Amino acid sequence: MTAAAPFDAIVIGAGAAGMMCAAVAGQRGARVLLVEHAEKLGEKIRISGGGRCNFTNRLAQPANFLSQNPHFCRSALARYGAQDFVALVRRHGIAFHEKHKGQLFCDDSSEQIIAMLRAECDAGRVRWAMPCRVRRIAPQGAAGFELDTDQGPMHARRVVIASGGLSIPKIGASDFGYRIARQFGLRVVEPQPALVPLTFADWQPFTPLAGVSLAVRIGCNGMAFDEDLLFTHRGLSGPAILQISSYWNPGETITLDLAPDFAGDALAAALVGHKRQSRQTLTNVLAALLPRRLAEGWIAVNRLGGDARIADASDKSLRALAAGLQRWELQPSGSEGWRKAEVTRGGVATEELSQATFEARRVRGLHFIGEVVDVTGWLGGYNFQWAWSSGVACGMALAAG
Ligand SMILES: Cc1cc2nc3c(=O)[nH]c(=O)nc-3n(C[C@H](O)[C@H](O)[C@H](O)COP(=O)(O)OP(=O)(O)OC[C@H]3O[C@@H](n4cnc5c(N)ncnc54)[C@H](O)[C@@H]3O)c2cc1C
Repeated sequence: MTAAAPFDAIVIGAGAAGMMCAAVAGQRGARVLLVEHAEKLGEKIRISGGGRCNFTNRLAQPANFLSQNPHFCRSALARYGAQDFVALVRRHGIAFHEKHKGQLFCDDSSEQIIAMLRAECDAGRVRWAMPCRVRRIAPQGAAGFELDTDQGPMHARRVVIASGGLSIPKIGASDFGYRIARQFGLRVVEPQPALVPLTFADWQPFTPLAGVSLAVRIGCNGMAFDEDLLFTHRGLSGPAILQISSYWNPGETITLDLAPDFAGDALAAALVGHKRQSRQTLTNVLAALLPRRLAEGWIAVNRLGGDARIADASDKSLRALAAGLQRWELQPSGSEGWRKAEVTRGGVATEELSQATFEARRVRGLHFIGEVVDVTGWLGGYNFQWAWSSGVACGMALAAG
């Protein structure tokens, strides 16, 4: 490692965004050093998508990202979109498949994406300092920055912060990027766990439903998703909850339709209609319309007397049962936190950054990319796409000088 060598840019964090940025800048002629404090490269990529890395989403567009400025991501996504990353994956001969709603996964292993990024960095003659911890960054006027690291001082005209968010601290997440932003007087939107299971006070009555999974419609703050829900011992999880968790704020309620295939009052009408088959129990009728464990659990939790014949139930109570299932309002007490969150919502405020180069408007030569920026994708490959898109835009800017 030639720490004392002059570099055009030092990229801090060799995750998805950092490797992409370094590779692009290096291949365009910039002398780049990549600094990573973890012992093992690309741990988050490795564990992503259940080990197969959901590396992008074919349908990715700006509407799939949250930010205080929803337009900020447009330019980077337009310059380097899902199809560009897919072309790179194809060039490296990595086989992949589409799973659900445009989500693209490796057929074999997420290791292939790490190896691909490493090879791209090699093609750009990127230098590495790893493991290496950066303690401080000091501005040095026109000369750029001096980094105080455990491998000694390092210098570069430009520094890129690609240190990611706060989720999964045990594999290297740190608040480094936010600290550096604040050190240079940049606003940070309060980081919060996102794509995270939600927890509920007094959940005990629902624990018999743990393990039940079903397709639902979920809503909060004007956003709705049609996804799968999973009941757990501590609360609710599954893609539906992870998606809505990014839109939920403490104190707010979420709304669930547990029978989204029944439009309008079709479920109520079906239940009332079944009264004619007078010998069936309420549980059996409901279990014919919904997953049996949900039907049984819901009737038990709400003490609805499932063994009684449906013919003996009033129309009003059946309509109330349908409404309860289709307009279930819940107030989460919290989330499973950083340990379980897939991403961080919030981060370096976008008005502080150029959307073309990701350079801080007020600090020449200091760039922020990837998850540390206040842009958060939906579940389904969007967060990696943001890492690639922001990494490429910044990498091109580094090479341009
Ligand atoms: C379990 C899990 C599964 C996921 N699955 C998917 C998926 O399938 N599809 C998808 O799109 N997204 C997925 N994500 C989200 C995705 O992994 C992140 O959004 C993405 O990795 C962010 O890229 P990044 O480069 O900004 O940050 P990271 O990938 O987190 O990289 C940041 C790097 O910086 C290093 N670092 C931190 N602080 C310092 C420091 N002070 N000095 C030096 N280095 C430092 C870290 O060690 C890390 O290597 C998943 C996340 C998790 C936790």
